Amino acid sequence: MSVHGSDVKVFVRTRPTAHFATDLIEYLPDGQVSISSLKAAVNNQLFSWSFRSDRVLHDVSQEEVYESVAHTVVLGALDGYNGTVMCFGQTGSGKTYTMTGTNESYRHRGIIPRALQELFREVEQRVSHKITVHLSYLEIYNETLQDLLSSVRNISSGDNGGPCGMSVVEEPGGGVSVRGLSLHLVHSEEEALNLLFEGEMNRIIGAHCLNRNSSRSHCIFSIHIESRSHMLSEARYVTSKLNLVDLAGSERLGKTGSEGQVLKEAMYINKSLSFLEQAILALGDRRRDHVPFRQSKLTHALKDSLGGNCNTVLVANIYGEAAQIEETLSTLRFASRMKCVQTEPAINEH
Ligand code: ADP
Repeated sequence: MSVHGSDVKVFVRTRPTAHFATDLIEYLPDGQVSISSLKAAVNNQLFSWSFRSDRVLHDVSQEEVYESVAHTVVLGALDGYNGTVMCFGQTGSGKTYTMTGTNESYRHRGIIPRALQELFREVEQRVSHKITVHLSYLEIYNETLQDLLSSVRNISSGDNGGPCGMSVVEEPGGGVSVRGLSLHLVHSEEEALNLLFEGEMNRIIGAHCLNRNSSRSHCIFSIHIESRSHMLSEARYVTSKLNLVDLAGSERLGKTGSEGQVLKEAMYINKSLSFLEQAILALGDRRRDHVPFRQSKLTHALKDSLGGNCNTVLVANIYGEAAQIEETLSTLRFASRMKCVQTEPAINEH
């Protein structure tokens, strides 16, 4: 059941639509996805392409998505392994639905609320451990860092400053933190969900005030865990960080056909996603010294949670309508390159 010591897990999740291109996209229970343009040319070229993901999540419930994608990563974080779960894909493909869900009904809850539920259930059960949980919520827009929880009164001793002058800083032990990002101590699922909700509202209001679309930023919801065992036979102290990342829409520059602010946003997004890919590929080559983490705020902020000390999971969200086939192909190609990467997780024991 553990993902420790394995490669980057890659899942493909389809957004159910009335016009899902079943004639173009084929998926098999073993995780294989094939796209064939025999019936509709992509870029005026006929082609056929396929790759094998860990699993295709087509027409499956939010609960099943959580169990497949995040359950073992959450348990790993409680045991001291850093983890990152990322949703990647074009705008409208279901990244936010997968990561956060909707408020429509309980069963539409996404990975973050379910992770918080499981986390606090485990905290209650692990009576031999003292487990402390802090949350932070970071937004990266055009290479600028924003604290989505800066407006929340911080009752935590972990408050490390205001929103001004935020920057990613490297720590002596190899970890990274974001200077100026507030950390919030939470004692229950309910407290944690309130913060998530507050952060979501701030994301929407902030985007509205600045007249921009909230899908143009990367959002990292981080759960910081400290676990101290009371048992003398197994006295140990472990820390971990679980990043749940809703990446900005990956649609390519040409397609947006835009200028001004929208063009600038697209350039920043494309660059940071390309650096994310380069960083993960370099990690796979065991060239940790040469991993270009500092090239973008996104990879720098995730530095201690990609590869090495981390379980990394990518969900490729696809909007599988015929009109979107080029973006779908581009998302799946990104996912297939990630699938080849091997990482070597290790525990954060003190
Ligand atoms: P993105 O974050 O990639 O831009 P969203 O998550 O906002 O996309 O999804 C776009 C719309 O599609 C939303 O209304 C969302 O509720 C809906 N949606 C996406 N995926 C699913 C799904 N698997 N099941 C039901 N509705 C979905």
